[in-house]
Amino acid sequence: MSEPRGLGDKQAEETGRSDTSILPRRLSEITHWDIVTDVAIVGYGGAGACAAIEAKDAGAEVIIFETASGGGGSTALSCGEIYYGGNGGTPIQKATGFEDSSENMYNYLMASGGPNADERKIRAYVDGSLDHYHWIVDKGLRYKPSFVATREIIQLTDDCLIYSGNEKAWPYRDKALPCPRGHKGRIEGDNGGPLLWQALSGAVEQRGIKVQYDSRVLALIADEHNEVSGVAIRHDMKEYNVRATRGVVLCTGGFAMNQKMLKKFAPTLAKGNAPLGNPNDNGSGIRMGMALGASVINMTEGFISMAFYPPGRNSSGIFVNANGQRYVNEDSYHTRVAYYSMLQPDSRCYLILHASDDFKPPKFFNPPIAGTGFTLEELEAELKIPAGALAQTMEYYNRHAAKGEDPFFHKASEWLEPIEPPYVALDCSPSGGGYVTYFTLGGLETAPSGEVLNVRGEVIPGLYTAGRTASGVPCSTEHYASGLSVGDATFSGRMAGMAAAGRIPTEASKGCRIV
Ligand SMILES: Cc1cc2nc3c(=O)[nH]c(=O)nc-3n(C[C@H](O)[C@H](O)[C@H](O)COP(=O)(O)OP(=O)(O)OC[C@H]3O[C@@H](n4cnc5c(N)ncnc54)[C@H](O)[C@@H]3O)c2cc1C
Repeated sequence: MSEPRGLGDKQAEETGRSDTSILPRRLSEITHWDIVTDVAIVGYGGAGACAAIEAKDAGAEVIIFETASGGGGSTALSCGEIYYGGNGGTPIQKATGFEDSSENMYNYLMASGGPNADERKIRAYVDGSLDHYHWIVDKGLRYKPSFVATREIIQLTDDCLIYSGNEKAWPYRDKALPCPRGHKGRIEGDNGGPLLWQALSGAVEQRGIKVQYDSRVLALIADEHNEVSGVAIRHDMKEYNVRATRGVVLCTGGFAMNQKMLKKFAPTLAKGNAPLGNPNDNGSGIRMGMALGASVINMTEGFISMAFYPPGRNSSGIFVNANGQRYVNEDSYHTRVAYYSMLQPDSRCYLILHASDDFKPPKFFNPPIAGTGFTLEELEAELKIPAGALAQTMEYYNRHAAKGEDPFFHKASEWLEPIEPPYVALDCSPSGGGYVTYFTLGGLETAPSGEVLNVRGEVIPGLYTAGRTASGVPCSTEHYASGLSVGDATFSGRMAGMAAAGRIPTEASKGCRIV
């Protein structure tokens, strides 16, 4: 055991000096091992818990190292929405009258990955989705066989199924038959994450898996060929060397809390004003992998939210930019709307609605009222939109909406109706004060098994990753759907745990050369 050395992550970020503490420690310099295990899991959130359970069930000895004093990470803070389906449908989909073929779910997820979609990961996720549902239920999570038809960000009742993405919106509805796949656990309020965590942490405890809290993993330990053999951790102001004979699984979450990384890799997300996650979402696992030569992909991508609904009827309004021009179909998932909003000049954007007597701003988002008016001229003046521009947009929109048409953006007819005076404009710009939240989706490049790839596309032996430390099924801001991050974190955690324990041979990394 030696004294602490190197700059701490936080200190390095604040000072702007290079973060030498994450550089790999060389095996040749390690004089002793303080702890020996088969599989070392770094981070005890959704991905880490699932990796640990599978590795243990595959017969490996497992220790989880968690920097915080308790487990759960962002997973336990989340709404716990999980994206399941395909295979004819989950029991909840079937009970509520939805049939969901694997091909249909695959087509939707390919669209939801956009140009970054990873076919192999999506195929594995879809094929394993029903099994994953049963695996989670087997750990104790309960779902109510009910469907919420209204447009929601998250169900605040104990109901289960919602359309949680862009399934019904153009252009997705033309690529796959719309089907709801967002499943939330059976609990009132926004408590799906804690409920999911109860089930996962219960399964970890039941298996007697050791969790070492207050233990920050500082760096990987690797030989001169970059084969990983363990990690260096800091616990109680001392450093320890951990030998992991079968593998290290990095499950440290993303980098929403690291402004330096955000500015460098994901400047569009950084336009948001409220990072969403736990304080240790600082990209430490991603940086440890990068320091060993791992490839990173989709680092610009993330979830960014302007939760302008509920109420669903807000989708009947129009989003306009500072020039009074429309830019998106408002029946899109809120992340898609936020994504296009961030691309507008100065990210200025307004939601224009009819000011009904019972008008209330959307409660999750709470954007300020930027203007009101009985005429569009009044509203243009209040919003400092060039005179006549908003009136022109509105005239065109209303004329077609009256016929149930939206020639520019193809909003579904159920949301199309002319917007009548009086008007209200909500300032949805990040600078306006509404709550524009974000988290990251980019990370280490992996095979579907979770084996980490280096910049030459080769597997780094002994190194695995899952959840938001990796780039997985959700990999596009524009096309994201709720439930994909927890769904992918738990699913990819399982894959990585099995692979690290040796249950899946490196066969799973077909197409990737083994060093
Ligand atoms: C409020 C909120 C609501 C959300 N709702 C949903 C939803 O309903 N559906 C959905 O799909 N997504 C949702 N998300 C996003 C989702 O929760 C996360 O993206 C996902 O759970 C991340 O899982 P993970 O296992 O990768 O990371 P985490 O669950 O964050 O786990 C990472 C763990 O690693 C630990 N750690 C970090 N660095 C180190 C280190 N160096 N050494 C040791 N330990 C370390 C952290 O302390 C943490 O415990 C939500 C997020 C939030 C915050």
